Amino acid sequence: MFKAILARLRQGYRTRPFPSEDVKMPHRYLGLPRLKDAPLNRAAAACPYGAILTEERRLDLGRCVFCGACAKAAPEAVEFSREYKLCAGSRDALLVGRGDYKRAEPLARELTSIFGRSFRLRQVSAGGCAACEADCNVLGTLAFDMGRFGIQFVASPRHADGILVTGPVTKNMELALRKTYAAVSSPKVVIACGACAISGGPYAGHPECVGIPKDIPVDLYIPGCPPNPYTILDGLLRLIGRAK
Ligand code: SF4
Repeated sequence: MFKAILARLRQGYRTRPFPSEDVKMPHRYLGLPRLKDAPLNRAAAACPYGAILTEERRLDLGRCVFCGACAKAAPEAVEFSREYKLCAGSRDALLVGRGDYKRAEPLARELTSIFGRSFRLRQVSAGGCAACEADCNVLGTLAFDMGRFGIQFVASPRHADGILVTGPVTKNMELALRKTYAAVSSPKVVIACGACAISGGPYAGHPECVGIPKDIPVDLYIPGCPPNPYTILDGLLRLIGRAK
């Protein structure tokens, strides 16, 4: 018993001081991209998922898997920062150009007053590979401890304030997704987590993948493949009006 207490004292407080202190991402981390003045053709040709729209001069964060192939092939046209705050409130906001990136805004005041201190989510893995799921799961560990913000994943949609969808939504999972969404009482929110949930990711256009149905409105888009846990946590805090 004494040994356990001693070990606990030695370990100290392990939860990261987020969001009160900003996070320095590792050198190899690829965050928010920036398009430069040079033509995008070479970068677009290198992109395996068609995330670079040459005519519009935009990079679609909803399709991007942050592999870095574009910046490697055309460093004069694309560069990546280490900015991890990437969540957006609409699909259009995920189209990055050269200007400012519009991040997600908090929900309406009447919703943040409901969810601001207690926000429960049912996670729906709709054909995901488990990478996004793992990065959501890690938010419950002591390093992130998202429970201190009142955010929790729950087992039943009846206990949830919303759903967090991962994966490209396969045909087999469409009904389960619809039923889970219907089982959450209103007001409710929907979060698309990861490139697959947002756009189909590497599976876009596959006949077995249907995507999040249009009649299920998405409130928060979390780009990445998978998104970094800090990106997810920042997005959730933004949504409920608790981001710094
Ligand atoms: S980092 Fe994104 S935009 Fe660039 S090549 Fe990879 S998927 Fe395409």
